[in-house]
Amino acid sequence: MRRYFAPRQHMVTGKWHFTVQEGDMVRPVGPCADDCPGHDTGDDAILHYAGHLIDERKTVIRDGNFVTCLICGGKTNRRVRIGNKELHLCQDHMDTKTLLRFVDLGTLMREEHGAPEEKASGLIITP
Ligand SMILES: [Zn+2]
Ligand SMILES: [Zn+2]
Repeated sequence: MRRYFAPRQHMVTGKWHFTVQEGDMVRPVGPCADDCPGHDTGDDAILHYAGHLIDERKTVIRDGNFVTCLICGGKTNRRVRIGNKELHLCQDHMDTKTLLRFVDLGTLMREEHGAPEEKASGLIITP
């Protein structure tokens, strides 16, 4: 069965959760399924879920080498590794929103859920 991942709004609370739909069933997934009070916007729900996928995969490297932050151009002694990508980002620019500019959420979701037929719908994040 196809599964569709998307942020959806709770009918009663009006809050947004990141969800998966299988057939007629919709349920929250990832961190949005664990004691999450919900979010004010769909984008916030995407960030909650994406942050969890990224946190599971990211390693922060601090080895004394200084590099230039890709976003602000500042010197930083940190790098982030996600999968086979190594990103030069300072402390301020290691947030989920920034990291999503460099990693593909669809790919992370396929790694997490392992189904190649999954569609990530409505996953649009504007920086
Ligand atoms: Zn959430
Ligand atoms: Zn920076």
